[in-house]
Amino acid sequence: SKGEGKNTFRFFHEELNRITRDHMALDHALRHAVQNDELVLLYQPKVNLETGEVTGVEALLRWNSPTFGMVSPIRFIPIAESNRTIIPIGEWVLRTACRQQVAWREQGLDLDMAVNISPIQFKSQAVISQVSSAIAETGIDPARLELELTESTLVEKPEAAMKTMNNLREIGCGIAIDDFGTGYSSLSYLRNFPVTCLKIDRSFICELAKNAGDRAIARSIVELAKSFGTCTVAEGVEGMDQQDILSDLGCDYIQGYLYSPPVAAERLVQVVQEIKQG
Ligand code: C2E
Ligand code: CA
Ligand code: CA
Ligand code: CA
Repeated sequence: SKGEGKNTFRFFHEELNRITRDHMALDHALRHAVQNDELVLLYQPKVNLETGEVTGVEALLRWNSPTFGMVSPIRFIPIAESNRTIIPIGEWVLRTACRQQVAWREQGLDLDMAVNISPIQFKSQAVISQVSSAIAETGIDPARLELELTESTLVEKPEAAMKTMNNLREIGCGIAIDDFGTGYSSLSYLRNFPVTCLKIDRSFICELAKNAGDRAIARSIVELAKSFGTCTVAEGVEGMDQQDILSDLGCDYIQGYLYSPPVAAERLVQVVQEIKQG
């Protein structure tokens, strides 16, 4: 009836208002997240498939907001990108992750540290100086630092992206392509960009045991990586069946709930020990 239509309209209108209001409140609160010390990094181990040992971690950001509680990066990173707070946030992430790597190294645990870099952060003039100062301030061995970039970072202005990537390689850090296989012209990147690692997207890993198509894709990515001399990491590995397949394919590292979810820095050393002991 007419009345229902009106109610539906009102519902959508109110819903839209609510979403806009939430977005604005998050946007506003995010601007103070760094200064107010509300950001936290968790670390997820990467396990070497040949030795079974943890050789590195990926730093994953969390926002512990007094107003909104724990906010997922899926929710706040797009907002941080749209209001460009991702630049100071990304700087904090780099410095904190590098500082943590050095703290673990001093405890005898020398791990590779992978840090996610937003396309906005990568395209800003700041990224090179952010990386250099994080290295200079913390004393991390640049060879231990790996920057994870998504393909969307590279498509828009490939020439500029290549220049920035070459600069980062000159500084000495590694460059991983995150969510590999989900973008467009994946293959030509490998020819032109100084990539050191490919991360096989979780969407190809989920049904690896059931889906022959996914296995074919994973196999091709590993083969491709080998011929370009880059390493491979499979993300989102949850089961032994997936691990066995990846091991047969010759994938180098796996990351996923099978070994550990992302954990707080204080907990990581113990997790590494537990994985070592099997
Ligand atoms: P990503 O870089 O692809 O990170 C992997 C995501 O998969 C993480 O979600 C991780 O917790 C989750 N994951 C790991 N193992 C498993 C598994 O076995 N099963 C399942 N279902 N999920 C698994 P998280 O921590 O929520 O991060 C989501 C995304 O937010 C990241 O995806 C990345 O794109 C972004 N992000 C996180 N931290 C940062 C950061 O410091 N800077 C930037 N720019 N983006 C970040
Ligand atoms: Ca990542
Ligand atoms: Ca990923
Ligand atoms: Ca992914």
